[in-house]
Amino acid sequence: MAITRRGALKASVLSGVGAAVATTLPSAAWADTDPSGTAAVDADKALRLLEQGNKRWARHHSRHPHEGRARRAQLVGGQNPFATVLGCADSRVPPELVFDRGLGDLFTVRSAGQVLDGSVLGSLTYAAEHLHTPLLVVMGHQGCGAVSAAVEAHRTGELPPGHIGGLVAEILEVVESTPDDGEDFIDDCVRANAGHIARLLREDDELGGFVADGRLRVVAARYGLEDSRVSWL
Ligand SMILES: [Zn+2]
Repeated sequence: MAITRRGALKASVLSGVGAAVATTLPSAAWADTDPSGTAAVDADKALRLLEQGNKRWARHHSRHPHEGRARRAQLVGGQNPFATVLGCADSRVPPELVFDRGLGDLFTVRSAGQVLDGSVLGSLTYAAEHLHTPLLVVMGHQGCGAVSAAVEAHRTGELPPGHIGGLVAEILEVVESTPDDGEDFIDDCVRANAGHIARLLREDDELGGFVADGRLRVVAARYGLEDSRVSWL
């Protein structure tokens, strides 16, 4: 039922008679189903949309919005995502699924352990500068293999060889500055790593300017594999 109504709304927006249909829907429904439409979405609103979507995902009530024919047609001419997500490449944490969003909603950049390099920074800067996304989420996750490998390197004193070693070395610095109290050190490092990357982005020469003048908010998050929930750090 809800899906049909959303489809009808989007189709009528495309055909230029959206206002008449929108009046039949609660404003909350409009805001939630078309966040990248005409209404401006600020960082607070973007955060709420992500929270709402993750709640649906965690409860197995995903709506899978913005996948249909009308949305695809709407996006041919451009994109206006309401948030950027820097997440891990891990196959268990695709941002569109865990936030229950669809096409055109999220600008996603993924690397193992959310490690930054020139390509990642360039992509994130593109989203802030040209797409004007008001929110950037750095999302680590429970059971991250890249962080676990850095913990292993910390304990053994040996980095893995090759490209993987280069990546793990980027996380090692955070691991070495995280207190090991024996409880759940890997998860502590997951949180510390997400927080560290968020700080680096806030202090970045280019992205920092967007943060300083209020055009961009950078938040760190952790996704739990066990409960499917995103917590803000
Ligand atoms: Zn990971």
